[in-house]
Amino acid sequence: MTDHRTILHIDANAFFASVEQSANPELRGKPIAVVGGHGRTVITTSSYEARAKGVKTGMAIWEAKRTCPELLIVVGDNKKYQYTSTKMNEIFRDYTPEVEAFSIDESWLDVTHSLSIFGSAENIAYIIKARIKYQFDITVSIGIAPNKLLAKLASDMQKPDGLTIIEPDNVSRTLEHMLIKELCGIGKKMQRHLNMMSIYTCGELGRCEETRLTKKFGIIGKRLKEMGQGIDHSPVVRFGKEDDVKSVGHSMTLERDIDDPAEIRRFLLQLSEMVGSRARRYNVSGKTIHLYVRYADFFSSWGKQTTLKNYINLSDEIFRAALSILNTVDLEQPVRLLGISLSNLKHQAEQLPLFEDERKKLFATQAMDSINDRFGRMSVTYGTLLPGKEKAGSHVIPPSWRPDGVKNIDVQ
Ligand SMILES: [Mg+2]
Repeated sequence: MTDHRTILHIDANAFFASVEQSANPELRGKPIAVVGGHGRTVITTSSYEARAKGVKTGMAIWEAKRTCPELLIVVGDNKKYQYTSTKMNEIFRDYTPEVEAFSIDESWLDVTHSLSIFGSAENIAYIIKARIKYQFDITVSIGIAPNKLLAKLASDMQKPDGLTIIEPDNVSRTLEHMLIKELCGIGKKMQRHLNMMSIYTCGELGRCEETRLTKKFGIIGKRLKEMGQGIDHSPVVRFGKEDDVKSVGHSMTLERDIDDPAEIRRFLLQLSEMVGSRARRYNVSGKTIHLYVRYADFFSSWGKQTTLKNYINLSDEIFRAALSILNTVDLEQPVRLLGISLSNLKHQAEQLPLFEDERKKLFATQAMDSINDRFGRMSVTYGTLLPGKEKAGSHVIPPSWRPDGVKNIDVQ
């Protein structure tokens, strides 16, 4: 059987804590906890030494200190995590161009076409593990499976430093008694609904009548049954990491699933503004706009790009290009994550536009950028953003969240 894909899911163990321990020898081998945001009172992640003593993510600092008095508290540094994440993804791309970053410390790799070069997926996994350990002193758990859903499931099965393979012939045996909550994309709410239908294991979900599921969940019902059977055709989608790595990109995870087109447009505009203001700050403009969309099931996604005749960096131009891509697609599910990147970059010549209205637009943009630089992003923005501004703002994940920030900005 050779027609199946081979997908790796790589998940860095205790990522933030491992990065801190790797950066500071005095923290190595010790129980440490990383805190950030929200008044810095809650543990974001902790080292395995701390976990062994009972420290858990989400604990208040005082509680964690009571559990483990020798616990060292470190304030998180997103820049450090973003840097390590970007470097890790560069290593992954030595083994396949098909790399999709799922979060700052998780990526999928489609290595189907690399197997003949590297021998086997297992070989690739061992080499990657060794390189990441050597370069960053970080361990990763890797899952190998015929699709993204199962690869993610597999990487979760052994932590830390695990390597788990789900062979195509073994899928149904693996899933038979696996609880549905282990599947990526089945949240607490969905789990409760399925439990009420007496569905607890993936085996039960896979055997459930499709009509029973679609009656309850609509279009997602079919997808749920497939998930229970371990079927997943979603491709590994590159984003902001095209062969041309010089790009300015942003992505945003929405706190809930969104299917209202007006609301999606509003987020798209907000993203365009983030990408545009960044490009303008670096004085670059680009011709290629890439739109990335991840669906509510958390791993189905697509990416499409368009290349324009002109170089652009104004937010509304980026927005229009992104929207034109979106308009060519029928969305299959509500949207969970949006990303836009601008690539094919060149340095902008410092030249005033010829026409009065273009000059006005440029000055208005510059004024908006400088106010936002002084008072924080989105202090001033386009009118369309305003109705949902507060709500939208709280959904923004900072650029450091994903390894798709500004890449190598010294362009030709
Ligand atoms: Mg992780």
